[in-house]
Amino acid sequence: MITESEQKLKPEKGVEALLRHLGEDVSRPGVVDTPRRFVKAMEELTRGLREPPPEVVFFPLEYEAEVGPVVIENISAVSICEHHLLPILLRVSVAYVPGDGVPGLSKVIKLVKWAAARPIMQERFTEWLADLLMEKLRARAVKVKVCGVHMCSFIRGVRDEHHNMVTEAKRGEIEVKLRCKKPLNCID
Ligand SMILES: [Zn+2]
Repeated sequence: MITESEQKLKPEKGVEALLRHLGEDVSRPGVVDTPRRFVKAMEELTRGLREPPPEVVFFPLEYEAEVGPVVIENISAVSICEHHLLPILLRVSVAYVPGDGVPGLSKVIKLVKWAAARPIMQERFTEWLADLLMEKLRARAVKVKVCGVHMCSFIRGVRDEHHNMVTEAKRGEIEVKLRCKKPLNCID
């Protein structure tokens, strides 16, 4: 049960309490507006929780034969990890076999960015994204590859700046080898 006083607690107040806990002087001019900015930034990073998914526009195939896999590599997206609320920088590669219409390219990219904008666990996110793309792209088959650099492992804990977490999911019959660049240090 959330008490009435907790309901009235503004998220900014929570950030202020955290800053105090860390030993910061919350009346200092440089940080006096930080709680408001932090809440706004977190809202942007999690907009997928509140905004509806982008509408996908379809173009008719106007072609008799079946169209083979369409591949979109290296869509960049940002997420936050559900365990630490720290950013995850993502590169997502998508392949799909269209159904009875071809979705617009920009909508596929927007859909991936929208899907990422929430707290995630990358393994589960990859499976969910495959299902989401199957449904929203009205696809016959889908394959996704997600490469993630997790700030919670990059800047704290094991402090490994070289890791690249790679996860894949597939729905239906699709044989494509997907590549995706490492989200950081992408000269490869
Ligand atoms: Zn984490």
